[in-house]
Amino acid sequence: MWQPILTRNINLPNAEKITTYFDHGGYQAVRKALTMTPADVIDLVKRSRLRGRGGAGFPTGLKWSFVPAGADVIRYLAVNTDEGEPGTFKDRAIVERDPHQIIEGVIIAAYAMQAQRAFVYIRGEFFLGIKRWIKAIADAYQYGLLGKNILHSGFNLDISVHRGAGAYICGEETAMLESLEGKRGEPRLKPPYPVQVGLWGQPTVVQNVETLINVPHIILNGAEWYAAIGTEKSSGPKIFCVSGHVNRPGIYELPLGTPLRTIIDDYAGGVRFGHTIKAVIPGGVSTNLVLPQHLDVAMSFEGLEAIGTQLGTGGIIVMDDTTDMVEVARRTVAFFAHESCSGCVPCRIGGYRLLETLTRFTTATAAPADLENLQRLAQGITGITFCPLGTGMANPIHTMLHHFPAEFQAHM
Ligand code: SF4
Repeated sequence: MWQPILTRNINLPNAEKITTYFDHGGYQAVRKALTMTPADVIDLVKRSRLRGRGGAGFPTGLKWSFVPAGADVIRYLAVNTDEGEPGTFKDRAIVERDPHQIIEGVIIAAYAMQAQRAFVYIRGEFFLGIKRWIKAIADAYQYGLLGKNILHSGFNLDISVHRGAGAYICGEETAMLESLEGKRGEPRLKPPYPVQVGLWGQPTVVQNVETLINVPHIILNGAEWYAAIGTEKSSGPKIFCVSGHVNRPGIYELPLGTPLRTIIDDYAGGVRFGHTIKAVIPGGVSTNLVLPQHLDVAMSFEGLEAIGTQLGTGGIIVMDDTTDMVEVARRTVAFFAHESCSGCVPCRIGGYRLLETLTRFTTATAAPADLENLQRLAQGITGITFCPLGTGMANPIHTMLHHFPAEFQAHM
């Protein structure tokens, strides 16, 4: 039986308090990391093979090693708490229930890259999360874990909290940096990447909450211990969010590589009312569907890539045999079209044209040419937008047209 590592404290009474965190071994990893050299911390994280949990899966230690060295370089760490992917609600739970675990990861990450300033960017709607962040940071200052000369190590770090205004696009790292700088949240052209040119032109590492909470455990238990969890290419535990037509929706921490079927049946209580599964979104709505014949797929970066989809955020949405896939497509596109930053034409115009066309299907007013229109529109958006949001919007259309053509026909 798997024993949770990252979520082990979230159901404790007063889990969010610093005293509770201390009582359960909290901040011991910071004490240990501050006795190591920054290069040794980076090397340890590299050897653990930790990959980012925000969606892209980039190797964390490698990212930190790209930060330019030099005493005169100002470096920043930006903590992405803007979790907005539909079906994803793990970072919010961690912020609300165990914020000190994140702060511990932030201190170690900032020390490793020698950043003296960290910015927390959080969705404006997460009222409780904002409160918890602010209180936890204030308590960490009080105990000498933040500010000048942390635990007499000579290392300084300040953290501040910044609220977003609920725009999905601000979860994209460069749009988040624009927003942190007080501008409209629109993606920047890459390269240069934030790790070279980020906040106010300075090297900035953007890191997701779930990624950061892995770091204290790697410091305390070692790279080999961590790398032995999960698979060769996807090490460590992962917090999966399960929603949709299951009996027990919620967050479940399991090793990467756990079969999708196990997560749904053994943890989320199986499909409601004895129905069968029609399709599963494995990692947030911008990831391609998993069909019933692939339910034994390993929930790892490589396992899902092998069947043409992605791990994404680990936001699993289960759809049973009563689901209208055309309506799923319409709602998905409605979300993305609304969240488009309007910065590039294929996404701004294409999204609304897709939505209009899909709405004709769901209101039984589609003409025969609309099937071809859908295909052409999705094709016209895919791969040519300024950021991945546009392609993420078109992806479900390709998949649904491919796998469920009869449902579109039936709606005409
Ligand atoms: Fe903005 Fe273009 Fe990205 Fe859409 S694809 S969110 S319009 S930059």
